[in-house]
Amino acid sequence: MELKLQGKRALVTGASSGLGLHFAGVLAGAGAEVTLAARRLAKVEKAAEALTGAGHTAHAIELDVTDPASVSAAFDAAPAYDVVINNAGISGSGAALHMDVAEFERVIDTNLTGVFSVAQAAARGMSEAGGGAIVNIASILGLRVAGHVAAYTASKAAVIQLTKALALEWARHGVRVNALCPGYIETPINADFFDTDAGQALIRRIPQRRLGQLGDLDGPLLLLASDASSYMTGSVVAVDGGHLVSGL
Ligand code: NDP
Repeated sequence: MELKLQGKRALVTGASSGLGLHFAGVLAGAGAEVTLAARRLAKVEKAAEALTGAGHTAHAIELDVTDPASVSAAFDAAPAYDVVINNAGISGSGAALHMDVAEFERVIDTNLTGVFSVAQAAARGMSEAGGGAIVNIASILGLRVAGHVAAYTASKAAVIQLTKALALEWARHGVRVNALCPGYIETPINADFFDTDAGQALIRRIPQRRLGQLGDLDGPLLLLASDASSYMTGSVVAVDGGHLVSGL
């Protein structure tokens, strides 16, 4: 089975930067008609133009996953998507002892409630259309913990459990829901940290002794988004160089 998406319509949330921007290109490259969504419309418009210029079919929409009206508008305006990548997320770092409850809630609103809102809107359309694939971007921090990211780890653990709960409820509607859990992926945002002694020490704790690259996520993403994974739902796929199985 090829990891192809010809004839499929895909939505990527948080596609204005980082992983989401990369995922949009990967799905378009596999043949999908891709809609890039984020709050910064100018950024997703520019990215969609670049994809269109490269011969793909791409659109851009403004979307705030924490605003139910914005989520409804994004789905009401379009026919059902076949594939939805629930990628929008924020880190919200800070010591738990000093974190405002408002900041904790902001992370949960985006990373958990936002994922639920988008998944629900997606699944309503998908179930009417006969099915679809939802990929929730969680994190290895949903399965283990690190310091100073309490809200983030809680939100990602909840996304993993939500993925399983939605998979159970929606299997009968042909809607598959799986979670992708990236480990530490090298991006321009974290490159400086990984040049420090602490960053280098972290890399030594990864069994493969290297950071993930964006391209390391392509195969697992396409697997979960495509019919190649038609008998997978409720799965939690870690892509982390073995970080989760590092020795205690
Ligand atoms: P970035 O900060 O580069 O991208 C986050 C994206 O989310 C942006 O496009 C941002 O767009 C969007 N976003 C944030 N809040 C909202 C909102 N309320 N509504 C809609 N879009 C929103 O982060 P990454 O690319 O690193 O992270 C992407 C996902 O991958 C996250 O869920 C993250 O937790 C996860 N992840 C990342 C890892 C990594 O190593 N980078 C590792 C494991 C998981 P805009 O501001 O324009 O709305």
